[in-house]
Amino acid sequence: RTAERLASFDGHGALSDGTPVPLLANVGTGDDARAAAEAGAQGVGLLRTEFCFLGRDAEPTVEEQTAAYAEVFAAFGDRKVVVRTLDAGADKPLPFLTDAEEPNPALGVRGYRTDWSTPGVLARHLEAIAAAREGSGAEVWVMAPMIATVSEAVHFQELAHEAGLPVCGVMVETPAAALTAEQILDRVDFVSLGTNDLTQYTMAADRMLGSLAELNSPWQPAVLRMVECVTRGAAASGTTSGTHKSVGVCGEAAADPALAVVLVGLGVDTLSMSPRSLAAVATVLASVDATEARRLAVLALEATSASEAKDAVRSQLPVLAELG
Ligand code: PEP
Ligand code: MG
Repeated sequence: RTAERLASFDGHGALSDGTPVPLLANVGTGDDARAAAEAGAQGVGLLRTEFCFLGRDAEPTVEEQTAAYAEVFAAFGDRKVVVRTLDAGADKPLPFLTDAEEPNPALGVRGYRTDWSTPGVLARHLEAIAAAREGSGAEVWVMAPMIATVSEAVHFQELAHEAGLPVCGVMVETPAAALTAEQILDRVDFVSLGTNDLTQYTMAADRMLGSLAELNSPWQPAVLRMVECVTRGAAASGTTSGTHKSVGVCGEAAADPALAVVLVGLGVDTLSMSPRSLAAVATVLASVDATEARRLAVLALEATSASEAKDAVRSQLPVLAELG
């Protein structure tokens, strides 16, 4: 049965009680996007726009950028595509945007912050995203990486609106953004958790250092508490405004089927991952109902380490054995 379910995945993730969990894809290029659509993704939860910029010594023109994004939008028809604006710096240095001499690049001028040191690049980038959206039927959402304050989120939203992009959110990659998620969501339309960076910054453990892999795990109970802080913030903001705003996860955590169950149990609405993980995540989500997902989330929150959380949850999900 599991093999059949894996083969017949149609992109519509749901728990066994019918609670929908939209499953989206992380993509970079038009080729990626076509393969993701083919694999059944319901849309794109993270378009890594750096692909258009990496390996170049100058900013691509607005026209070049527009063509690259339009190719991705075209692969998804009228479905949702969440575009992350340029995330340069740290693990993704760019000669014309980031300072190679920074002593701590992961804590430096990266992601959204490059708009302070090199103004104009972000505005042109948003102009290209808006132009690509204009010529497509896709539902385009735009979000900024590496946000740490409510005021940055508001400023990004102003830039996006000026460019003609109506749906605007931010990534939650810093503990600062997680702790202020309610206030951020009072202003912007959605958030997406970048658990790779959120883990690195919560655990003070460099994501590039293999020797810190156990600390640098999204299974760390402290990271899961950060996630819960965000979903609670979203619920509180929704109670005040009467509208629940979407909390997604687009870091590697979403591609781990057992962790996906925990994330949904913590209140996450959508999951975005590498297309090859979609069917396995859908299969495991379909093996639990909302009450069970919540029970497993609490089990993970109460563990004393990442490996304890992971073992405790995995031992309660018999379907994992069938995945091989
Ligand atoms: C993340 O930080 O989880 C994320 C999705 O972005 P990246 O891995 O590109 O930093
Ligand atoms: Mg990141």
